Amino acid sequence: MAKKSKAAATNQIAVIGLGRFGSSLALELVDTDHEVLGIDINESVVQSYSTQITQTVQADATSPEALAEIDIQNFERVVVAIGENIEASILTASLLLQIGIKEIWAKADTAAHGRILKQIGVHHVVFPEHDMGKRIAHQVGGDQLDYVEIDEGFVMAKTAAAKSFAGKSLTELAIRRKHGVIVVATSHANISYEAATPETVIDADDWMIVAGPKKAVDEFCQIR
Ligand code: ATP
Repeated sequence: MAKKSKAAATNQIAVIGLGRFGSSLALELVDTDHEVLGIDINESVVQSYSTQITQTVQADATSPEALAEIDIQNFERVVVAIGENIEASILTASLLLQIGIKEIWAKADTAAHGRILKQIGVHHVVFPEHDMGKRIAHQVGGDQLDYVEIDEGFVMAKTAAAKSFAGKSLTELAIRRKHGVIVVATSHANISYEAATPETVIDADDWMIVAGPKKAVDEFCQIR
């Protein structure tokens, strides 16, 4: 797979580091019809994913020779999923930048790690543990059944519809004007979601997916 020309490789993704984050990312990419090259320094880790990931290879990603050997330059998208070993993560990312990989994604475990990755020019830095912690906090807090920060300060949340909404359409409720959030979809008793329209009528046990500025969404989800 990795030996193909750059043009042929545009839809292929390399994932370096098959720990908990890298492996679940790689497996999800395979599930969504991507061709994935999984790379890990640890041979037993590589072996354990050899049948599930399109192609796996044992290599030390901090070695320029090893990266050249696996033709990493043919990949337009590479994910650096090494977190704990910050030195290996930064060395790998800087080699990938030097090679000219178009789109590098890297996982950071701490704010300082993330800052360095951004400073050296990594295109996308993600903080999975930090983001997941925030997401779960909203669920534990009770008002929101799920929560995703789409961009800084703009969120999407799943919440139980307020009892006071029951029997009214979205037009009647004027949710956008009164609360500053957009209703994206609703689900009756969590059976299946339907895209919201102005005519959508809210039932007592509906769930709603709403999007908007964080503060507005937080306040909206507290209405009972
Ligand atoms: P996770 O939380 O996702 O399990 P982590 O943040 O604890 O991972 P590490 O344990 O540092 O991160 O690394 C994840 C994977 O990356 C491991 O399977 C490890 O073997 C691999 N790895 C570490 N260093 C390198 C390297 N230089 N080249 C390739 N793979 C590496």
